[in-house]
Amino acid sequence: MLVYKFGGTSVGTVINMNHVKDIINSEGKKIVVLSAMSGTTNALVEISELIKAKEFSQAKKHINQLHQDYKSTVNDLISDKNLHNEVTAYVNSIFESLLGCVNQNYSNSLYNSIVANGELLSTFMFSRLLQQEGLKASLLPALEFMRIDRTNEPDNFYIKQNLERLIAQTPEADIYITQGFICLDAEGQITNLQRGGSDYTATIIGAAIEAEEVQIWTDIDGFHNNDPRYVNDTTALSHLSYDEAAELAYFGAKILHPQTVMPVRSVDIPLRLKNTMAPNAHGTLITNQVHGEGIKAIAAKDGITAIKIKSVRMLLAHGFLKKVFEVFEKYETSIDMITTSEIAVSLTIDDTTHLDAITEELEKFATVEIDDYMSIVCLVGHHIIYHPDTPELFQVLQDVNVRMIAYGGSNNNISLLVNTSDRLETLQKLQRYVFEGEVVGIE
Ligand code: ADP
Ligand code: ASP
Ligand code: MG
Repeated sequence: MLVYKFGGTSVGTVINMNHVKDIINSEGKKIVVLSAMSGTTNALVEISELIKAKEFSQAKKHINQLHQDYKSTVNDLISDKNLHNEVTAYVNSIFESLLGCVNQNYSNSLYNSIVANGELLSTFMFSRLLQQEGLKASLLPALEFMRIDRTNEPDNFYIKQNLERLIAQTPEADIYITQGFICLDAEGQITNLQRGGSDYTATIIGAAIEAEEVQIWTDIDGFHNNDPRYVNDTTALSHLSYDEAAELAYFGAKILHPQTVMPVRSVDIPLRLKNTMAPNAHGTLITNQVHGEGIKAIAAKDGITAIKIKSVRMLLAHGFLKKVFEVFEKYETSIDMITTSEIAVSLTIDDTTHLDAITEELEKFATVEIDDYMSIVCLVGHHIIYHPDTPELFQVLQDVNVRMIAYGGSNNNISLLVNTSDRLETLQKLQRYVFEGEVVGIE
């Protein structure tokens, strides 16, 4: 079986939903994972923020506006009278439940219930579109099989068992549609796989059913060599290895949720990125094969906090690093980059939930300096640290204030820490030098 995932833009308009229908209307059984229509999850986040701020009439206004938008989408999408009535009743029930949320006390679980509605809406509407067009489509409710455990990892045994059970209940279907992003937690409460999490849903499902391939369909023709939101003339990469794609996704390449590669890497299922708007373009194939040497792609991750920890004794005493790491472990905060000198260690984190407590503990044996609004710029490629051109790369950065460099931690990754205000310039300079052959330092 194949697993397809279509993102927000791919299901964001009636025209695009019809493109998706054409793409999946082929031989063979498949599972189709959908995101919410583009803009919907953001609108739901905004609604929950209004409820949190007790701006109830504004929250209701936003809910009613979104409801109107959905009513007109349904009118354009579904012409069959019975199906139209069914979809309208479903959409109305979702918006009634949203209005019901306005009077509840704000909590994380209320937030999770509110943001889950985007995927519930898109999948219901799309499944009925397929039925209207005579395709054998069945809806698999993600909340009946997708679950994470206490450590926020997918509960693979539960997922496989329940997914297989649900599929077996509708053996006549060719196309199984399900919601990306949403899942249950270990207590059985609604939660999600974090923003952009539908990609991760697709690979978790792919691994569970031992799919032949997982295809992520989006609004761009594959994984580009730099971030197209910030840099002109980026180009799509035809191939990436799991390791390269995982590092780029982890370090900010928005095209893939950071965890997407993990489930398929361990079982060697190919992951293909394709463009819904240009289905004939090659896209990017991600497998365990390595193609090419040198710097292959660059990504940037914002929202990074750098922490410099200086031993209060003049030399890095034996056991100092251990003590530092124990503090981060205690607060379950992962470290992305790390460099050390004789008396200090600098490291970065992206989750600052426990920063105050961490700082307090570190200050018992060290002085601590914190810099926020930092970005990690990450260069990835097979064995880049050995490539003859790589050392010259540092020349390009002579005008950029690089706070930390991690070189050699992995053969395939060089990371630079810069102020977020310098991130754009850094990406653009690297693009010109690395991919456009501009020679640095020659006037
Ligand atoms: P979807 O809604 O389909 O999940 P996303 O917006 O999450 O789509 O991801 C696709 C977007 O990721 C692209 O439109 C592009 O702007 C952005 N992006 C960032 N870095 C890259 C990259 N290296 N290659 C391709 N796209 C990237
Ligand atoms: N709809 C969710 C989001 O906007 C999940 C996704 O699109 O993958 O984050
Ligand atoms: Mg996405």
